[in-house]
Amino acid sequence: MKLIDGKALAAKMRAELKEKMQKANITPGLAVVLVGNDPASQIYVRNKIRACGEVGVRSYSYELPETATQKEVEDLLDGLAKNPEIHGILLQLPLPKGLDAESAMARIPADKDVDGFSAENLGLLTLHKEKLVSCTPLGVMKMLESEGIDPTGKQAVVIGRSDTVGKPMAMLLLNANATVTVCHSKTKNLAEICRNADILVAAIGRPKFVTRDMVKEGAVVVDIGINRGADGKICGDVDFENVADKTSYITPVPGGVGPMTITMLMYNTCEAALKG
Ligand code: NAP
Repeated sequence: MKLIDGKALAAKMRAELKEKMQKANITPGLAVVLVGNDPASQIYVRNKIRACGEVGVRSYSYELPETATQKEVEDLLDGLAKNPEIHGILLQLPLPKGLDAESAMARIPADKDVDGFSAENLGLLTLHKEKLVSCTPLGVMKMLESEGIDPTGKQAVVIGRSDTVGKPMAMLLLNANATVTVCHSKTKNLAEICRNADILVAAIGRPKFVTRDMVKEGAVVVDIGINRGADGKICGDVDFENVADKTSYITPVPGGVGPMTITMLMYNTCEAALKG
């Protein structure tokens, strides 16, 4: 069994990105928009802004009050869409109650949608004409690549079908020539399907859901979940302690996919800047 160290790969990729942008003599700009005062969102935004500093991305922070109207949010996004110094726009979700996130997100042009959440970017991914791809699944692909794991011809099983994680993950694996099965809460015989997986990706949001009996000997196991376990500690969707020795590669939580997500946000912002 080998651990895939997301923290180390993220640090390496951030350093490479910084160097690449310096060489290109481009300062990428990322606008981070936070509406309201959700404490978790405030932490995420702070971490994203810190990562910008590390990579040499100029961050522009916008904070609107909980009472902001739909028009105020959309007017701000429209202004950022037109600003040539801003290559990426991130609208931190969830928005306060009463605001329509889908309508607000639609104001972000696809070429500045560095989260890769827009219908256009998801459609391009489906057509295997990827431009900006959702950060977490993209980070997983970089982790596989870093270990020389080629999905071609492999049975890949993704548990979870969210538009932001599970679905784009499945599309990326399919585009990389894996044979992909997507599972969800209505899937029958889940354990049996998982046992066929050469690459098993868990994006569920349930602590230690993937147990030893669900994993094939020698499988690559990628754990996207971030949960708080019964002991109060952060844990993934995989029962790491009991599963790890059965795998060929496994990602830990914390220190696995998590650090790659923000790094991919930086990667997407740099890509957008290079193309803009
Ligand atoms: P989500 O929108 O809640 O989706 C969860 C998915 O899991 C759904 O498709 C759901 O099926 C499926 N599911 C739930 N219970 C199940 C069960 N008993 N059996 C099989 N499938 C089940 O969550 P998400 O946004 O995709 O996030 C998933 C996890 O990844 C969360 O823990 C989240 O915190 C984490 N995450 C981590 C990162 C990172 O940087 N590492 C980034 C994003 C998310 P249905 O569609 O049928 O409801």
